[in-house]
Formats: sequence, C-alpha cells, structure tokens
Amino acid sequence: MDITMTKKPNRTTAIVLAAGSGKRMQSDVAKQFLMLGEKPVLCYSLDAFEQSNYIDEIILVTSEDGLATCEEIVKSGGYHKVSAITLGGKERYHSVYNGLKAALYEEDSTKENAPKLVFIHDGARPFVTEDIIRRNIEALEKDRACVTAVPSKDTVKIADENGYVATTPNRELVWNMQTPQSFDFSLIYDAYRKLIREEANVLEKGIKITDDAMVAELFENVKIKLVEGSYENIKITTPDDLPVAMQILQNRL
Ligand code: C5P
Repeated sequence: MDITMTKKPNRTTAIVLAAGSGKRMQSDVAKQFLMLGEKPVLCYSLDAFEQSNYIDEIILVTSEDGLATCEEIVKSGGYHKVSAITLGGKERYHSVYNGLKAALYEEDSTKENAPKLVFIHDGARPFVTEDIIRRNIEALEKDRACVTAVPSKDTVKIADENGYVATTPNRELVWNMQTPQSFDFSLIYDAYRKLIREEANVLEKGIKITDDAMVAELFENVKIKLVEGSYENIKITTPDDLPVAMQILQNRL
C-alpha cells in the first residue's frame, strides 16, 4: 500500500463491499468469494477498479470470517490500489459507513484528507465496466449523487401488506438500481453519519435501507442522477445467478 498516493488530494476512492454472508446463496462460502471461472467473484470488480483510469484508491470491506481470504486475494492479485481492508458490520449500511470512515484516515487527520469522490460497489457484482465508471465520473461533473441503473424490462407492481396489488407505476419511469453508486464524498459521509445517529428512528419507522442513494434521499436535500448501467451488471444473490454469470463471462471472452 502506498499511503502517499492514496492520500492524494481530490482523489476518487472505490469502496468495495464484501462483508455479506452466504445466506441467500445457501452456501457456506459468501457469494463474493465463490469461484466464477478461474477466480473468485470479488476479483472481477477489484480488477475493474484497479485497472480504471478514474479510480485512485480501493477500500475493501469484509467480515472477520472473510479477512484472511481478502488479504490473500489482494496479495496474490497484486491489487496495488487497495489501501485498506476494513471490517464491515451487520447490515450493508454498517459496512458502507465503516468503509467511508476508513477512507477518511480519521485516526491521523481531519477532513483535509478526505477523498473528493467515492464509488460504493457491491463486491458480489462482478461485471462493472470502465464505461460504467466513466459515465458516473461524467455525471459527477454536474451532480453530487449518482446511481447506476437500467430501465425495468418488466412491469412493476407495488403490493400491499396482504399480498394484493396496490398500484402500478408507469413502467417508463421505473429503473432497477445497480452499483456503483457514486457521490461527492462529503455529501454521502454526512448522510451516513446522520443515518447512524438516527438509526433507531429509522428502524422504528420500518424503513429498510437497501442502497446508498436511499441514504442521500433520506438525509440530504440532493437530486440523484440516474446513470446508464448494463443488463450484464448483475449481482450474484442466489444459486440461479451463477450459471447466468458464467454465460456473461463466456460472452465477454
Ligand atoms: O446482501 P446484498 O445482496 O444486499 O449484498 C450486497 C453487497 O453488500 C455484497 O457484496 C455483500 O458482500 C455486501 N454486504 C456487506 N455487509 C453486509 C451485507 C452485505 O458488505 N452486512
């Protein structure tokens, strides 16, 4: 790790999340560590950010169980941009908050050392591309909060609590969220700090935090820009996703 490089002013940091368990994958191995072709799922997004012209530094967030695996992946993969491997938390948003704190180098500095921009990415989403990263960077020239997304191909229904259809949003306005989600660092760090402070209230209201844009929506008065993703930028969530990911991988070769 080259600490002088990573503290570069105005840097762009990618936080890669790999602290989830294998619950929905019905596997003892967390989904980001499953093999996809010749390497673990996590390596594909690390490769994309390591090779990107727009990313200066990577912070990898993992669980205690995943720590040794992550250290080995970083060492053997030669991921020189990884400046820290830090521990995540119970929920995804806890892991993101820990990643943001690690990006600040809080122990020896003030916000002067903060990154300018931050990309937050699911380590279980292997097919992020340089084009997607570039489109986010271009959007951040004008906007302070961006989400990678694709138009929904399916009609979406909002259900009530009893399993009946409540409403149908206009499909032309429905988008499926992906990652990376990219932000002005200070904006999303402040939003996450407010979330952690208000966590009990948020839970009490039954609000489930499922992405980063939601945190900005709830706590900052900011417009969030949709950035074109890709239908191949899938997240490995359940066992059915692995053969689909293998097919995407083969199409890319
Ligand atoms: O569980 P979910 O599909 O939302 O996970 C998305 C990403 O967030 C995965 O890469 C997973 O490893 C990560 N995650 C995390 N910490 C958690 C839960 C999920 O880093 N507590």
